[in-house]
Amino acid sequence: MQKRVQIQSRKAQTVYLPLAASSLTIHSRITSQSQSQNNIVKVVQKQLKVRNRSLKTRNQMQKEILSQTDSCTQKVSTERNLEIDSSIMEPSTTITNKQFQLVWQSPYRPHIYTINFPYPALLQQQRSQQFLVEQIKKPLFYKLQGQVPFKCVLNSFEAAGFERSDDDNWLLYWGLASKETLNEMKRYQKTNHFPGCWSVGRKDNLWIHLSKVKRRFPTEYSFIPNTYLLQYDFERFERIRECAPKKTLWIKKPVASARGNGIKLINKKSKLTADKRYLVMDYISNPHLINNFKYDLRVYVLITSTDPLRVYMYKDGLVRFATQEYSLKSSDIKKRFIHLTNFSVNKQSPNFIANNQDIGKQLKTSKWSHKEYKQQLMDQGINHKLLFKSIQDVVLKTCIAAEPLLLENRITQEHKNNYFELFGFDILIDEKLKPWLLEVNVSPSLNSSSELDAQIKTQLISDMLHLIGLEYHTKKAFRIQIKKKLYERNINDIQSINTRNFRQKVNQEDLDVMIQSLEEQLRLGQFKCLYPNKKNIFEYEQYFEYPRFHNKLIQKYFEDGSNWVI
Ligand code: ADP
Repeated sequence: MQKRVQIQSRKAQTVYLPLAASSLTIHSRITSQSQSQNNIVKVVQKQLKVRNRSLKTRNQMQKEILSQTDSCTQKVSTERNLEIDSSIMEPSTTITNKQFQLVWQSPYRPHIYTINFPYPALLQQQRSQQFLVEQIKKPLFYKLQGQVPFKCVLNSFEAAGFERSDDDNWLLYWGLASKETLNEMKRYQKTNHFPGCWSVGRKDNLWIHLSKVKRRFPTEYSFIPNTYLLQYDFERFERIRECAPKKTLWIKKPVASARGNGIKLINKKSKLTADKRYLVMDYISNPHLINNFKYDLRVYVLITSTDPLRVYMYKDGLVRFATQEYSLKSSDIKKRFIHLTNFSVNKQSPNFIANNQDIGKQLKTSKWSHKEYKQQLMDQGINHKLLFKSIQDVVLKTCIAAEPLLLENRITQEHKNNYFELFGFDILIDEKLKPWLLEVNVSPSLNSSSELDAQIKTQLISDMLHLIGLEYHTKKAFRIQIKKKLYERNINDIQSINTRNFRQKVNQEDLDVMIQSLEEQLRLGQFKCLYPNKKNIFEYEQYFEYPRFHNKLIQKYFEDGSNWVI
C-alpha cells in the first residue's frame, strides 16, 4: 500500500507543467505515507494555481521563449533555478535511486521526455534543474564503434546512467556507423556523424564547396584563404607564384590528413609537383600574436539538424600556441614550432607547458581556454565580443554552405532526426583581428591531456548530449512517434500563415520541428544558438543555396513576433 501511494506521488510530479509552471517547487523527499499524501495535495494545488495563471499568460510566455537568444536563456536558467527546491536532487528515503531517475520534460509536449545528462563529478557543478521530473528508471545503452572511447564521453554517459552495449538496443551510436546500421536506425536512435560529414571535414572538399559560395559572395566569404588543389590547379598556381612578391609564402598540406602531418611552408623557390594528395593555401603571414607567439583557436560547433538547420557554438574552447617565437625569416620557414600551432606538433617541443590549472603559470602555458584568451584580449584593450561575433559569422556561413551537402547525403527522409555532429573549427586570427577558417575537423580530439582539456571537453560532451534530446521512451510517446507522417510542402504556403490560422495550416511534422527547435533552446548549457536565431535569421537567408520549408517556417514565426501558440 505504502509503495502505491509513493508512486502516485511521483506521478503527481510528472503532471504536464506549462512553461510558466517552472517556478513550481517540487518536493521529492517523502518520508511517510501521510507526508506523501500531503505532498500530493500541495503539489497538485500548486500546479493548478500555476496552471490557471499560466493559461492566461501562455501566449506571452511562448513569445518570451523564442525571443530567448542565448544570453537570455542563460538568464532564465539561472534566475529560475533559484526557485526550484534543491531537495529534488536529494535521494528519496523511501524509493531507491534504482527505481527512478530524473529526465527532462518538454514544456510543450506532456509525454515527451529526453534524457538528462547530469554533469560528471569532476566538473563540480550542477546542471540546471529546470524541467526535470522523475520517471521510472530504464536501462539506457550506447554503442561504440570499437575505438578506444574518450574519458569525457564515458564519464558523461556514466553520469546519465548509460551502459555500453554491443546489441541493437542502443539509443546512441558513437563513431562512424556502417550504412547498414544507419539504414536500420529507429526514429529515437541517434548517431554522432552525418553521412555527409566529410564534405566539409576534408580540406579539399571544404575548399571546393566554400569556393563555390565565395564566387557568389566574394566579400562575405573571404574568410577562407585562397587554396589550390595541386591535382587541378597546379599550372594556375605556378603562374600566380611567378608573379607574386618576392617574400610571399604558402602552406602545403595533404588534402586528407590531420595533426600537422605532412605540412610545410613553401616560398617562390620551393619545388612543387602536381601531386593529387596535396593542396596549397595562401599563408596568413601576419597572425595576431600573444607574447610574440602564434596561436589558433579551436571552436566547437554542434549541428543537431539540417532540415531545418540548427547550429550551436560552444562558449568555451581551446587556444593552441606555437612554442617558438614568431619569425618570418626565410631561414625559419622550416621550423614547425614557429609556424604550426597543432598541439600534437608542439607537445614535442621542449618549450611546451601543459595547462594544469596552476593559475600563476596560466599566461605561459601552451594551451588556454577561450575564457583566459578573452581576459588577455581585454587586458590588451581588444574588444573580444566583436571578435567572437565575427567568428560566429564565419562558423554560420560555413555551416550554411555545408547544409546542402549534409542534406544530400542523408540516407532517407525517414532518418532526418537521427544525426548530430560536433565539428572542431580551426580559426586563425590575423593582426587586424580578422578570423580565417583553416579547416573543419570531423571528430575533433576529445583527449583529456591536461586538466584544462578534461574540464572543457567533459562539459562540452555532457552539454551536447543533453542538448540533442535523446528520447526517453514511454509507451505513449512511442505511439505518438510512429503515427507521424512526412509531407512534402509548398514553400509559398508559409506566407499565408499567421497567429490566428497557424494551427490549421501546419501539420504534425511542422509542429514537431518547431517544438524541437524551441526545446533545444531550453537545454543549451554552454552552447549558444547561432541558427535559427531571431537576431540574424533574416540576414543569413541570402546565403542558403535553396530555401527550405522548415527554415522558412521558423523565420515566419519570428517575423510574426513569435506569437503563434505552439
Ligand atoms: P592539420 O589538419 O594537419 O592540423 P591545419 O590546416 O589545421 O592542418 O594546419 C595546421 C597548422 O598550420 C594550423 O594549426 C596553423 O597553425 C597552421 N596553418 C594552417 N594553414 C595556415 C594558413 N593558411 N596560414 C597560416 N597558418 C596556417
